[in-house]
Amino acid sequence: MKIGVLGSGQLGRMLALSAYPLGHQMRFLTSSEENPSSLLGSTFIQNGSQEIIEDFAKNSDVVTYESENTDVSIVNKIGQKTTVYPSAKSLYTCQHRGREKSLFEKLNIPCAPYQMVNNLSELKNAVEKIGLPAILKTATHGYDGKGQFLIQSDTQLDQAWESMSDVESILESLVNFKRELSLVAVRGVDNTHKFYPLVENSHHNGILRLTIAPAQNISPKLQQQAETYMRSLLDEMNHVGVLTIELFETDNTLVVNEMAPRVHNSGHWTIEGARTSQFENHTRAITETPLGDTSCTHKYSAMINIIGEQGPIDIALTLKNAHVHLYNKTERKGRKLGHITITANTLDDLNTSLDALSDFMP
Ligand code: AMP
Repeated sequence: MKIGVLGSGQLGRMLALSAYPLGHQMRFLTSSEENPSSLLGSTFIQNGSQEIIEDFAKNSDVVTYESENTDVSIVNKIGQKTTVYPSAKSLYTCQHRGREKSLFEKLNIPCAPYQMVNNLSELKNAVEKIGLPAILKTATHGYDGKGQFLIQSDTQLDQAWESMSDVESILESLVNFKRELSLVAVRGVDNTHKFYPLVENSHHNGILRLTIAPAQNISPKLQQQAETYMRSLLDEMNHVGVLTIELFETDNTLVVNEMAPRVHNSGHWTIEGARTSQFENHTRAITETPLGDTSCTHKYSAMINIIGEQGPIDIALTLKNAHVHLYNKTERKGRKLGHITITANTLDDLNTSLDALSDFMP
């Protein structure tokens, strides 16, 4: 099939790499020729014209997107010409923290208490309602910890609101979590569901640095709980493709933070660490073909992000259980340039390889 992707970053690149063995062709609607998906398919340069969007849609049997910040109106336009998975409904819900949270509430999925805020006086009222400490986040367009302010005292309210640049925001109670987890899952058009194991994520400066898969010491009950939340979200949005939820593990329960209607950085380990990667399963779902097995190929996997600078890649290239992925991006502070996945069957092997790659982790 001809698969169109809105965007052309590393997620589009890895989708293409999973789609070629299945006989598909790729097209990318993008703003520039220079991107991680260059040469992995035909590029349609978005110049604001209707013709390009129509041409792209006409040339794609199915269209998907790699970012929740994709313009819903473009997705709707494309949806009139060809199939789009996941649907505009998933995109619309996931690109606004308030819409996400009200869906969690509707489905009885625990999330942090929150209030939507449009100005300083609403922020003051919200703080009275949910208390401090709390996090103020922009309702849309926040990622990698951008557009967030941790408020610890009433004296910070002016500064916090100013940092939001006057855009709609959400105030969330601070969750006292033990660790951060995520769940990646996929739903097919025939209503089949496949779940990867819960993984543990560590961040630095708001950016994911390390994923351990599966997360250790997860009871079957906790995995089941996460899958129940995921299943109800997938079904409610009639979602086709991969969906990711990020969760906080507290003393004895899970609190859902946010979700993404797409393949996710915390699922990159699945390329080598699972029988079918998240990218291949997304491809299978959107091309309306059977989903693949999500079980692990090794007892442990770890994914280390390469951030800002390439680092000592040669060390990773010489480790027998490390797999290097570079995204064809130039070095820039805070930028995701690639990742390394380690697979291991003993904790010793895992830790030895992680130690060897410690220069990649701050
Ligand atoms: P987000 O953009 O919502 O994923 O937030 C980025 C990071 O901020 C998360 O990975 C958490 O480490 C932290 N964070 C976000 N929301 C909360 C919250 N309500 N309570 C505690 N920590 C949070």
